[in-house]
Amino acid sequence: MSVHSCVFCKIIQGELPSSIVHENEHVIAFLDINPINPGHVLIVPKQHYGSLKEVPTETAMQLFKVVLDVEKAVWVADGVRCEGTNLLQNNGKSAWQDVFHVHFHVIPRYKGDNFKIKIEAGKPSREELDTMASHIRDSI
Ligand code: AMP
Ligand code: ZN
Repeated sequence: MSVHSCVFCKIIQGELPSSIVHENEHVIAFLDINPINPGHVLIVPKQHYGSLKEVPTETAMQLFKVVLDVEKAVWVADGVRCEGTNLLQNNGKSAWQDVFHVHFHVIPRYKGDNFKIKIEAGKPSREELDTMASHIRDSI
């Protein structure tokens, strides 16, 4: 995806409308156009990076600071029903990423809302867990 056809770059350039909740030199936060619940916010670096592994650590810190500020805000903002939150951050098509400009979702949650994820978790043995842990440890 080129920067020129990226929907979030267009929002950042002011070429597409957005409902901004916070903005600084490096980061913008705006409402998701198709919210899972009212008050669903996207936090996006102004520089185009496709997914999280491309983001420099310093930018990630700037991004996450705004994630924390927004997460605190949705608990208390007028008109947002917030009894809990999910932070969602998708990387790659298989992980539901649709917009290939890295972003965090802050999603206000309440009991009985309509957000459902079906999970069929595995039950690996301790040996399998230890082997996997060593593979990942070796890759850090
Ligand atoms: P993801 O699946 O993590 O890539 O999520 C992309 C999100 O961007 C979805 O929740 C979309 O509803 C949202 N989105 C797409 N286009 C726009 C837009 N123009 N303004 C605000 N949110 C958008
Ligand atoms: Zn972009």
